[in-house]
Amino acid sequence: PYDVLVVGGGPAGAAAAVYAARKGIRTGVAAERFGGQVNDTLAIENYISVLETDGPKFAMSLEQHVKAYDVDVINLQRAEKLIPAAQPGGLIELQFASGGSLKSKTVIISTGARWRNVNVPGEQEYKNKGVAYCPHCDGPLFKGKRVSVIGGGNSGVEAAIDLAGVVEHVTLFEFADKLRADAVLVKKLQSLPNVAIHTNAQTTEITGDGQKVNGLTYTDRATGESKHVALEGVFVQIGLVPNTEWLKGTVELSRFGEIVVDAKGATSVPGVFAAGDVTTVPFKQIIIAAGDGAKAALGAFDHLMRS
Ligand code: FAD
Repeated sequence: PYDVLVVGGGPAGAAAAVYAARKGIRTGVAAERFGGQVNDTLAIENYISVLETDGPKFAMSLEQHVKAYDVDVINLQRAEKLIPAAQPGGLIELQFASGGSLKSKTVIISTGARWRNVNVPGEQEYKNKGVAYCPHCDGPLFKGKRVSVIGGGNSGVEAAIDLAGVVEHVTLFEFADKLRADAVLVKKLQSLPNVAIHTNAQTTEITGDGQKVNGLTYTDRATGESKHVALEGVFVQIGLVPNTEWLKGTVELSRFGEIVVDAKGATSVPGVFAAGDVTTVPFKQIIIAAGDGAKAALGAFDHLMRS
């Protein structure tokens, strides 16, 4: 059995594995796709000490860093079930879609999250070519340009306020007849001179010239009329879904499905820790996930010392 078994090989899982391995304890990482979300990222410009890199390169360095230590990397394995230890200090079992299973004294879950897609024509085609999901990451790429935000909940309205300070103009589209964000955010958004808000607007297509985004088509749900707006970027902000479906009923989750963790990354199940986008820790970013992975590994080590 392992001392620490990490599930998920994104920035959080990689950091957790390096920190655990450096304690000289038996460490494994099982991941469906090593690297995680950064594999789908074009430019990364906000990981401190790295001025600029790209996603696949960053994912490769994560893997190289982990493999520089004595860590079992078990790639292309999807965890399907976690079985808590039968008694305190006992072994936790993980079962995989492949039919295999692994046992460990502690487990660190870092299975990340995925952005909810709007599923309209053009979204997949223009991903990273004008279609974006993270204003902190990609906002500066649209400096001086016109963009839209799809989604009028808290994340959409926050994104629109944030982007309005960076880009030339922001148009926000919300399907419902009013914005669902907190009143103070809505008020702030409405006070900005370079923002237009369309409620009752159903996005039907993200248009482009074959190379990059050039606009968005929506239906005005009040009149049934189809309209087109010319712009260069579309930020989809209709939710971030944590990859925790497989943990329902085992580990305590928030109402958004995130794993509830304490200050050391411990979950509601003894010996099970969690880190990164999959948890309740706010602000989903690479640097935050990596720091969180380090913290959870130290939390797990602390737990091992005491049990
Ligand atoms: P993830 O990166 O999501 O990794 C999760 C890992 O768990 C993966 O290895 C996955 O395969 C695995 N996994 C999932 N389910 C299972 C399972 N059941 N069993 C086994 N393994 C599983 N952040 C920035 O700081 N800067 C940026 O520029 C930036 N740009 C981004 C651009 C895009 C397009 C996207 C999508 C995100 C971007 N982010 C950026 C956010 C950043 O990528 C995430 O915050 C970060 O990757 C979270 O790390 P994580 O380790 O928690 O999870």
